[in-house]
Amino acid sequence: MSPETGLLVAATGLLGLIVGSFLNVVAHRLPRAASIVRPASACPECGHRLSPWENIPLLSYLILRGRCRGCGSPISATYPLTELAAGILGAVTAWVIGPVWTLGPALVFTWLLLVLTRIDLDLQLLPNRLTLPLGALGLLYALAAAFLALPAVPPGAPGAPPSLLAAGLGALLGYGLLFLAGWAYQRATGREGLGGGDLKLLGALGAWIGPVAVLLTLFLAALMGSLIGGLLILLRGGDRHLAIPFGPFLAAGGWILFLWKDAIIRWYFALSGLSG
Ligand SMILES: [Zn+2]
Repeated sequence: MSPETGLLVAATGLLGLIVGSFLNVVAHRLPRAASIVRPASACPECGHRLSPWENIPLLSYLILRGRCRGCGSPISATYPLTELAAGILGAVTAWVIGPVWTLGPALVFTWLLLVLTRIDLDLQLLPNRLTLPLGALGLLYALAAAFLALPAVPPGAPGAPPSLLAAGLGALLGYGLLFLAGWAYQRATGREGLGGGDLKLLGALGAWIGPVAVLLTLFLAALMGSLIGGLLILLRGGDRHLAIPFGPFLAAGGWILFLWKDAIIRWYFALSGLSG
């Protein structure tokens, strides 16, 4: 890694910690329809207003030993974990993409997926107010690459913008695939298996990564979901009615495909013997 790349990775990681602490606010307030800007952050138990030094990503949690200074009630570990995840995912994205303009959109994509994951884990819900903008931004990314005089990015580069056609097809296919899967599942079992949010999330991912990668995302998400879901069911003594949200797996799969699409597609076709 060159010193410039090292600096970029470190700076993006630090920025990610700060963004993560904002994502905590979004994850807490957006599903409850509260303002994201006001009031200042406060303890949900006693209303104690956080002073600036109680609001430093990661450090405050460690200094306060995970307890509110006002009432002593424990602060959920999801707060520092979200900050840490935003920092690490930001740093990885910067490392993989490097100092090109596509890093900006890629970070927006990464952090939006993180906050969606956090909200889905908390509340089993993927708000339209995040999935729809995510899809719109994916189409905008393809539009900007097609019509603005931005430096060209090789189509196979990590996080490269899709063509307009790929973005449109990806969005339709992502939404349509899950719509059909949900419909078939409901016909077969009489139960509703997939939330509408999952459909919109996969559609939004499709706008960012195109139709081929969206298929692989669904495949990867289902694979990770069965492995981790199976493991959780085992750990909890065979309770098969455990509700595990699918959104985090879709988000993780889509993020992996966004950054490593070409490598994965090459590897996949080599494995299935379709090339060479
Ligand atoms: Zn408190």
